[in-house]
Amino acid sequence: MEEREVLWGKYTWVELGELAGKGAIVVLPVGSTEQHGPHLPLDNDHYTVYRLAVEAAKHAWSRGFKVLVLPPLPYGLSEHWMNNPGTITLTPHTFISVVVEILRSVASHGFRRIVVLNGHGGNTHALNVAAAQFTHEAGDPEVRVVVMDWWRFVGEEVMKVLDTPIFHADEGETSVAMALGQRVVLDALQGVRPEEPPYPQKWRSLDPTRESRLRNYSYNPRPAVPGAYGEPGKASRGKGEAIVEAFKEKFVEMLEDLF
Ligand SMILES: [Zn+2]
Repeated sequence: MEEREVLWGKYTWVELGELAGKGAIVVLPVGSTEQHGPHLPLDNDHYTVYRLAVEAAKHAWSRGFKVLVLPPLPYGLSEHWMNNPGTITLTPHTFISVVVEILRSVASHGFRRIVVLNGHGGNTHALNVAAAQFTHEAGDPEVRVVVMDWWRFVGEEVMKVLDTPIFHADEGETSVAMALGQRVVLDALQGVRPEEPPYPQKWRSLDPTRESRLRNYSYNPRPAVPGAYGEPGKASRGKGEAIVEAFKEKFVEMLEDLF
């Protein structure tokens, strides 16, 4: 099918209204605009979730689901990288309000099934709050929202494919970027000197199939850093393609089970 057929924004309002009546499922990709090391661009998180959403939606249509992808939300909670030029951040209340108001708009047009597809770890908890707030306000058991972090959603596959656990501007993000046609500055990738994670790993899980023992909050605009972690030099397009394929399959499996 043509890509435009999965894009919310490429329909006319007349066509879109008809799709609401046919039980279409809506995906809201949410990312960030923030530093991604010297080798990945600032748009990486919203580019990644947008492309993953489009690929998964096309696959879902071929399996009988009508799935529409909203324009991605390109801003999230990125205060900790504000000393790196180019990073844009919202504050938590603003971010939650924006997400709730988008969900409210979608539901007001008659859509009852929404997937919030997150691409940035800093957004995770605020998105759960937004979904809880929205469904509370909707007051309708038929209105349902699924929230997922893409790297956790395919955590088992991610751990199988990668040599190193997933973090930020690392092997995993770089591999998926390569697979999705993102700009990767290969010269910079050769010379990347990864950062040390901010606190010992025994307190935080880098394994996306496991929750961390704690979540560590502070007002923490770190000094400007090169900003890559793990071992991005181990990235490859093939690893990224395996993760993208796993995501598409699992997305449809999720629709079958939940919707
Ligand atoms: Zn990222």
